[in-house]
Amino acid sequence: MNLFKINQLAIEFRLDIGLEYDTPLDFFPVITNKLRNLTIVFLEMDEKISGACCKVDSQQIMFINSKHSKGRQVFTAAHEIYHLFYEDATFTICNLNSKDEVEKNANQFASFLLMPINALYSYKKGNSIEKWDLNSIIDCEQYFQISHEALLYRLKSGGDITFDEFDLFKHNIKNNALRRGYDSSLYEPYIDKDYTIGNYARLVEEAYEKDLISNGKREEYLIQSYLSDLVYNLEDL
Ligand SMILES: [Zn+2]
Repeated sequence: MNLFKINQLAIEFRLDIGLEYDTPLDFFPVITNKLRNLTIVFLEMDEKISGACCKVDSQQIMFINSKHSKGRQVFTAAHEIYHLFYEDATFTICNLNSKDEVEKNANQFASFLLMPINALYSYKKGNSIEKWDLNSIIDCEQYFQISHEALLYRLKSGGDITFDEFDLFKHNIKNNALRRGYDSSLYEPYIDKDYTIGNYARLVEEAYEKDLISNGKREEYLIQSYLSDLVYNLEDL
């Protein structure tokens, strides 16, 4: 699929779920709010695996590597959306560095979903960026909450930075962001333990409230999905 078609797909996806076509996204809360059938499971995985996804009836489930940075976790989740909404694959395991055509399309979709072509163009114009340097790159990734690596790839593939600049800009990024007044949250995990957000908890609580399952079963389901906080520490939440 060509890049403009994938960008169009990403913009239509935003509009279909009621988002602006060019604004930065507070990704996990926004998709948890907008995609009502989606459950996101953060799990410790092998470093090389970014995530996975599957569909079970009407429910969509994605798994995200809990050891990766928030920037990468967000990018992986956006990548998994491509599999869940535009492919029939029943279970897909993803390594974002894969050269597989479908994986490359999913990466492009993720990049455009987080930062559509016109959004990046407006940002560049609005901030009078003639030539990208480390200052403008860090400002931009913080604004769009996109991973440093994903932004560098995007700028390199668009001819905005050279291969040498790509190599020059990619190191020591957390320290460079802190020195520019940003916090380090984009470069650390959003959730760094086995944990579940999204529809699963809603389904369990709803089944319990409708007397479809006992409280014992409710607790069992919550504990199985790493939501033991809901069972043991309710008063602290
Ligand atoms: Zn994938």
